[in-house]
Amino acid sequence: MHIAFIGLGNMGLPMARNLLKAGFTLSVFDLVAEAMSTLAAEGAKACTSAGEAARQADVILTMLPASQHVEQIYLGDGGLLVNARAGAILVDCSTIAPAVARKVAQAAEEAGFPMLDAPVSGGTAGAAAGTLTFMVGGAAEVVEQVRPLLERMGKNIYHAGSHGAGQIVKMCNNMMLGILMAGTAEALNLGVAHGLDPKVLSEIMSKSSGRNWALEVYNPWPGVMENAPASKGYAGGFGVDLMLKDLGLALEAAIASKVATPMGAQARGLYALHSAQGNGKLDFSSILQLLHAS
Ligand code: NAD
Repeated sequence: MHIAFIGLGNMGLPMARNLLKAGFTLSVFDLVAEAMSTLAAEGAKACTSAGEAARQADVILTMLPASQHVEQIYLGDGGLLVNARAGAILVDCSTIAPAVARKVAQAAEEAGFPMLDAPVSGGTAGAAAGTLTFMVGGAAEVVEQVRPLLERMGKNIYHAGSHGAGQIVKMCNNMMLGILMAGTAEALNLGVAHGLDPKVLSEIMSKSSGRNWALEVYNPWPGVMENAPASKGYAGGFGVDLMLKDLGLALEAAIASKVATPMGAQARGLYALHSAQGNGKLDFSSILQLLHAS
């Protein structure tokens, strides 16, 4: 099977690498040449545009930052809908607005291409290990057609419902994650200010009722977890600006439906402040620095 992979950032590159390792033929494109040359050295074909990458592909995967990038790559001049070959299946793994996912999927299907929204969870470590969770929206039979491919990049593949449903799950999950990371940073900062070793505090809370993924897998305190972004100067990982985007998606959805999300709104305010202070490119666990200058 020939795969096109577009968007080779913190997530896309390790996901594409897992497909290469599984023996798929890959054509890749990113605006950053270095990301492409890394994969070309491992056997992928580097292309000069998304359209070129798409032309031969049976399945086209995209892993782009936000809604506007997805709209442009699929619907723009020289985009995927005019370059994909007949019968190709389109799978967008980016986290974007559910309404945009539905709009792009409708345009794709009108042009004759089955499409899925398939955002992921599990972070860059999950992308590298091939253990991501996929939350998929679209027709069940299309999900089954690409399931073997998704299983090379993820361990849990869930069909959430029709177009946009994957994005709704992802939006809810990330609103909860943004709140949990800010709350975890707040609790650790309080304990350390009162003399606790952050490792001891984390270990005890991990076996207590405050346990959560931010504390146990992605600890925001530098040095508590060797492989967490906090211990690498908050480099790589999941950017503050990407978390801010996701909390914005949740807030827009809450406003549109008149649903109260006071904790999500508060978390969005914290990440917006942190970004405004110049930290947008750091990993989102650096929200700790709003409370504690390390
Ligand atoms: P990233 O910023 O590291 O990577 C995005 C890549 O897209 C970059 O390499 C960029 O050059 C490329 N790109 C942008 N516009 C392009 C275009 N027009 N054509 C080709 N390439 C283009 O972001 P990321 O962390 O890899 O995240 C990607 C998506 O996955 C986002 O929607 C994010 O919210 C979501 N996500 C991220 C994580 C994480 O832990 N980083 C986890 C789950 C989901």
